[in-house]
Amino acid sequence: MKIDIIGAGIGGLTTALALQKKGIAFRLFEQAKSIQAVGAGILLGGNAMQVFEKLGLRQQIEQLGNPVSRMQITRPNLEPITSMELDYFEKKYGVKSVAIHRSTLQGILLEALPKQSVHLDKKLTQVTNYDPLFLQFSDGTLLNSAAVIGADGIHSPVRQMIFHENTIRHTGQICWRGVTDFPMPWSYEKELTEAWGQGDRFGFAQIAPGKIYWFAVSTNAPGASGFNKQKIMSLFNNYHPLVKTLIDFTPESHIHTSMLADLKPISTWVQDRICLLGDAAHATTPNLGQGACQAIEDAYILAECLDLYPVEEAFLQYEKARMEKAQMVVRSSWTMGKVAHLENPWLVKLRNWLMHIIPKAVNRRQSDQLYRLSAV
Ligand SMILES: Cc1cc2nc3c(=O)[nH]c(=O)nc-3n(C[C@H](O)[C@H](O)[C@H](O)COP(=O)(O)OP(=O)(O)OC[C@H]3O[C@@H](n4cnc5c(N)ncnc54)[C@H](O)[C@@H]3O)c2cc1C
Repeated sequence: MKIDIIGAGIGGLTTALALQKKGIAFRLFEQAKSIQAVGAGILLGGNAMQVFEKLGLRQQIEQLGNPVSRMQITRPNLEPITSMELDYFEKKYGVKSVAIHRSTLQGILLEALPKQSVHLDKKLTQVTNYDPLFLQFSDGTLLNSAAVIGADGIHSPVRQMIFHENTIRHTGQICWRGVTDFPMPWSYEKELTEAWGQGDRFGFAQIAPGKIYWFAVSTNAPGASGFNKQKIMSLFNNYHPLVKTLIDFTPESHIHTSMLADLKPISTWVQDRICLLGDAAHATTPNLGQGACQAIEDAYILAECLDLYPVEEAFLQYEKARMEKAQMVVRSSWTMGKVAHLENPWLVKLRNWLMHIIPKAVNRRQSDQLYRLSAV
């Protein structure tokens, strides 16, 4: 019996690896002709890195990325408001958080899979929940399937065909991301920095020596189209000069634009022998840097369940083990996005003051909820 995974994003690839580790046969189908990641970075928190430790990939990811030991939130001029040292979690969980280029990560995951298990240029057009399951692809192929994992992203075709809750919530925030070759000032080398302003914010981290990933988010930018570098820079006029320099140093064609959205939490991820995983199940706004981390946790737990139980029971156990945490992330991230983008100057002052005085132990407890791996 082979498990069919639809979508070879970070979630689908990690699921394939976790199944491989358990000796469970799978086929992975991806619509794209080649696996290509957005040219941006990603932060892999302690929960994701614990999974990669179990899958034998931690060292490679640490070597090709940049372990981060501190996260800080600052004012637009990069004056610190609050920060969190990650050594507590490193000691507790035995792994570091790592900032890495998305394409480097996807390359590592793909490399670890047998070539013949990944079927590219296979766009799923229909899944039919009869016994046996049928999968139809845009090239006309029709396959029988024992079980299906929809790891096909926020607009998941599997979810839309089989499940009935499909509300995408738009935040009204626009996000630009880029990677640039730039010598990171040494004081920022091992940290993720996010500068919060009024209705906007800018974050950056080194993802490899001399390579910096940045993201800029604004609620004050109507529409996604028509933005060139100058216009993006002008939105961050009142920020530290480093912010504008990083944008300026990035070739315009390498800047990616997204409208931030999530999936309104849905009541089930499972129907018989079909289940959802990653963004397909619980797409979140990126404010906690946990979307992919949650997909990676899903992958690990789902493989554990498939190792322990028959498919239908495994899918239900997976949902039971994962749903509460994944949806907590969606809700907290949504709220954090609202707080980060406050526009009223008095509320911004109050926010900054509150963040400054919140005891470190409280921040640590909240992060611990994210970094503690789900269990079956
Ligand atoms: C601005 C931004 C910053 C972020 N930063 C972070 C971060 O720092 N840390 C973090 O953990 N997360 C972050 N995230 C979230 C993270 O990118 C996503 O949660 C993660 O990539 C989801 O992975 P996935 O595999 O579930 O879905 P996707 O990456 O969307 O992959 C879905 C795959 O399915 C394929 N597919 C779709 N339809 C079909 C079909 N019909 N047939 C076959 N294949 C199909 C697609 O081509 C795609 O390859 C960020 C997101 C954004 C927008």
